[in-house]
Amino acid sequence: MPDTWVVVGLDNGGTSNNATVLDASGNFLVDRLVETPSRVLEGPEVAVEALAASLAGVLEVTGTDPARVRAVGLDTPGPASATGVISSKGATNFPQPEWWGFDIRAALEERLGLPVVYNNDGNAAALYAHHAHFGADASRHSSVSAIVGTGLGGGVVESGKVVKGAAGMAGELGHVHIPMHGLLEDGQPVPACNCGFSADAESVASLTGIANNLLPYWLTRFEGHPLADEPPGKAAKLVRGYAEQDDPLALKIFEQQAIALGRLFTIAANFTDPGAYFVGGGVVETGPRFREWFLGKVREHTVLREEQARAARFSLVPDLDMAGARGAAIAARDALPR
Ligand SMILES: [Zn+2]
Repeated sequence: MPDTWVVVGLDNGGTSNNATVLDASGNFLVDRLVETPSRVLEGPEVAVEALAASLAGVLEVTGTDPARVRAVGLDTPGPASATGVISSKGATNFPQPEWWGFDIRAALEERLGLPVVYNNDGNAAALYAHHAHFGADASRHSSVSAIVGTGLGGGVVESGKVVKGAAGMAGELGHVHIPMHGLLEDGQPVPACNCGFSADAESVASLTGIANNLLPYWLTRFEGHPLADEPPGKAAKLVRGYAEQDDPLALKIFEQQAIALGRLFTIAANFTDPGAYFVGGGVVETGPRFREWFLGKVREHTVLREEQARAARFSLVPDLDMAGARGAAIAARDALPR
């Protein structure tokens, strides 16, 4: 009975795991978050057990017999290898030494006794955006997704599959250098990124970029702005709310972010010439008026040839909170032997 199988997607985050179930006919059996604690700060052993509990939980919620599960898709924040080995230098969500170089995919596979397919969270969300947009035609199209969060994540999808690269580091869009001429004001310092680069996309288009680079500069241009009285990390998170109220300083910051994304997409246009450009993250989890303004600015600064402009679409990463788990599930399904 080939139609009875399912795959499960597990999205591992700093505080929660979110789980979903995808059936053989391509339907997700839940249309909301099904969250359980991720316990990543308690180390790998506890966290792998928490992932197993997350899987059991979503099967229970959906009334799915565990025997129907053919494979599991897992995504976590990076940096990690293409096959789910956490960076040997650790990672924001995986700070303890036990995590360094830990193969979370293999550990979960062993714990569950099921095939586990790994993606980083940006790639998983990009894969979901692609499939949600192109549907049954997904394998005949390409796309690029930029997701603005603490950093700048996302991914490149070609013929319906995530481009991973030799070391699993393809689609690291945040660390692509972009031209700063005309983006920065005269006298504005060149923005620096946590990765060690200056003037890459994440140095501008991320919450970290706001906190470290954009806000400190723009506060010198708008003396007496109320955000100057807030601690820098908190102030950076408040900028979006100000932008929705048309605050001039906040709009300057988001205009620079939109220009950065447009320039990143211009590079993508000349590199893989994708059929769709997706934007996701906090910056578009806003009221429709601000969101449309922001997307419009991104589009305005993406330089496409006439033929490309006719062929390409600009859109949002849909259901962003569920996109990781759903993309992870799609990757697991697509890896099944035919
Ligand atoms: Zn960088």
